[in-house]
This record gives sequence, structure tokens and C-alpha cells, in this order.
Amino acid sequence: MTDFSTVEKNLRARGFAVQAFATGAEAAAYLDGAIDGKTVGFGGSATLNALGLYELLEKHNTVIWHWKQEAGPARRAAMQTDIYLSSANALAETGEIVNIDGVGNRAAATMFGHEKVYFVIGRNKLAATYDEAVWRARNVAAPRRARQLNKRTPCAVKLDRCYDCKSPDRVCRALVTLWAPMEGMKTEVVLVDEDLGL
Ligand code: SF4
Repeated sequence: MTDFSTVEKNLRARGFAVQAFATGAEAAAYLDGAIDGKTVGFGGSATLNALGLYELLEKHNTVIWHWKQEAGPARRAAMQTDIYLSSANALAETGEIVNIDGVGNRAAATMFGHEKVYFVIGRNKLAATYDEAVWRARNVAAPRRARQLNKRTPCAVKLDRCYDCKSPDRVCRALVTLWAPMEGMKTEVVLVDEDLGL
């Protein structure tokens, strides 16, 4: 069992709400109960997909996800929903949430436009320090994403680190760190004691 107590304490000290669950199924059931009758936008996320959240929430909410709908319009529509769901590329034990983005919809939507944002984060995304969280986002999560998307980048071939490539296929175009919830937007971190996402 992962000890989330330090990261929970540090997230709360920064103003984030936090819930922790032993399994993805329990986390999904919690979110299914908490989000009802809302418009809900999803960021690109293998974690959200693995938890089956789109299928659960669309039964009683209006859910917009560019992985399930026409991508361009869905990305734009998801910027203005009541609720936004995302995962993170890394979470520091000190409480910073780190995300890299290529298109920018996910990074932007976690910073503005919603009543509330939820980050659903598996134990594998935890890093001891902020520097290690940034390192993980750049050298672990991003190369895996580049490989998944069949990008022609050095990281996708070798899968060992980021090469800070200048490729037109580059998937890392911005890095966003949330030090605290954005003003006027509630932000909750849902921790899951399972390996989820990249
Ligand atoms: S900057 Fe380029 S090499 Fe580095 S992780 Fe992103 S796509 Fe890969």
C-alpha cells in the first residue's frame, strides 16, 4: 500500500482538495457520485480511459472528450465545461502537479474556464521532489506518449530520455506546473494506489 500521507498533507497545504483510493474502481465510483448533471470536459488521458470514466459519467452528464468525438470541436468545447478531468504527467510529494502538452488544450483547461478541475493520478506518477517530477514528465511520460503516437522523435525510438528534439513531431511544447489551485477554480486531486497511465 502506497503511503500517500505526505503528498496529501502537502497538497492540502497548497489549497488542493484530496481524496485517496486503493483502486481505480473506487476512485471511478467516487467521481461518478460527485459529478452529476454537469457539462464535463476530459483531457487526453490514459488514466481516465482505464477507469472507464467517460462511459460512467456520460449516463448522467454531458461529457465532451476529443478521444471519443471529433477532436477539434471537442477540444474547444471542453474548454468551457462546468467540470474538467485530467491526469498529470507527474506529481511531486511536495504537492506540485506537472503536465506537458503538445496541443495545449489540457494544460490550458486545467488553469481556466471551469467551476472545478479534478486530477486523477496513479501512484506511478509520484516523484519525491519537484525537480524529479519535472524529470519524470520530460524523460518518462513524454517519450512514452511519443512512442504511443508513432511520432518520429529520438525519444520514441529509444524510450530512454528526452532529447529536447526540434522535430516537427515534438509532443512537448509547454510544461505547466500548478503550485496551487488557480484563483476562483476548485481543484481536487484523486490519488489512486494503482499504476495508471504513462
Ligand atoms: S522534446 Fe522531443 S525528444 Fe523530448 S520527449 Fe518531447 S518529443 Fe521526445
